Amino acid sequence: MIETDALVIGAGPVGLFQVFELGLLGISAQVVDALPHVGGQCIELYADKPIYDIPGVPVCSGRELVERLQQQVRPFAPTLHLGQEVSALQPQPDGRWQLRTSTGQAFLAKTVFIAAGVGAFQPKRLRLEGAEALEGRHIHHRLDSLPAHGQRVLVLGGEAPAVTAALELAEAGAAAQVTLLHRKDAFKAPTELLARLQALRDAGRIQVEVGQPLALRTADGGLQGLDILDAAGQTRPVAADHLLVRLGLSPRLGALADWGLALERKLVTVDTARFETSLPGVYAVGDINHYPGKRKLLVSGFHEATLAAFAAAERVFPGQPIHLQYTTTSPKLHERLGVSAPTGD
Ligand SMILES: Cc1cc2nc3c(=O)[nH]c(=O)nc-3n(C[C@H](O)[C@H](O)[C@H](O)COP(=O)(O)OP(=O)(O)OC[C@H]3O[C@@H](n4cnc5c(N)ncnc54)[C@H](O)[C@@H]3O)c2cc1C
Repeated sequence: MIETDALVIGAGPVGLFQVFELGLLGISAQVVDALPHVGGQCIELYADKPIYDIPGVPVCSGRELVERLQQQVRPFAPTLHLGQEVSALQPQPDGRWQLRTSTGQAFLAKTVFIAAGVGAFQPKRLRLEGAEALEGRHIHHRLDSLPAHGQRVLVLGGEAPAVTAALELAEAGAAAQVTLLHRKDAFKAPTELLARLQALRDAGRIQVEVGQPLALRTADGGLQGLDILDAAGQTRPVAADHLLVRLGLSPRLGALADWGLALERKLVTVDTARFETSLPGVYAVGDINHYPGKRKLLVSGFHEATLAAFAAAERVFPGQPIHLQYTTTSPKLHERLGVSAPTGD
């Protein structure tokens, strides 16, 4: 059980900025995200596309924005718990909140910040009859859960995560066979990955199949492969012992909907002075919240995180005045930021 003043659910851009605003007020935070990395939609959906409406930053990519936010929160050294989803939130008699994640990590938090965006990003599942029963044994979403040694592995997907997985498998040399299945013989990935893919195809170490999965081929509870609909409209089998499904990620609201929060159309209702939810000490910021006039923009989320941090400070430091201080001039903020005070007259 980790005891903390603040727990931030979601390490998207708004969750990261929440950590910064809390840090300025002297509140350290733990951060949980379902993804194995920070950045939320900026990294998952538009890492290399330009953003033009961040104040003072005429243009930067989604990835650059996240890198800058990571740099900005560094003085506050938040502890990140990645690759796990917050699955439970329960009130405690002393006013704190107990939270639990999908990996079993528990937290006891004075304040909770839901910065869950459009939901926890989860791998898209293979929607074929019988697939659920084979998940974890013959159908995988992560490379490290795959027993590739001497096995025939079929990687499904047409973008960089699928290409990378096929390359890693083929280059490791442990799998008996590596096949990449996509609906066309064109992959969306950086040039360097495509060049490596071509080299391994030329060397016969990666096969590419063009088609769409139609049905699982199973025998005695095990997997034999897939039936696919090929480019010529014919159904044919592709042999495999294991499938590595890399069809992308989709967001899911998940357990959050059952935490007793007031919701409006799957968004968490908040007030616009404190960004507090219907649960005391639980705040919602960024794309996940709803209030009259809400616009799902990064600047809105950054503003919300600022006011939510001030509201939470009253709870973390009861009875103490919470002063507004400028980062430009406050020695206390300079100390927290780890920067030296300006010298001179
Ligand atoms: C293509 C595209 C372009 C955009 N361009 C712009 C733009 O130019 N300007 C602009 O202002 N906005 C833009 N946006 C919107 C902007 O990206 C969002 O407003 C912003 O990402 C919201 O940030 P967030 O931190 O609230 O949520 P997200 O970025 O969605 O991050 C939420 C994080 O929470 C995690 N999470 C959710 N639930 C849980 C849980 N239960 N447990 C653990 N983790 C959880 C998710 O995995 C995710 O990483 C764009 C959006 C898209 C899709």
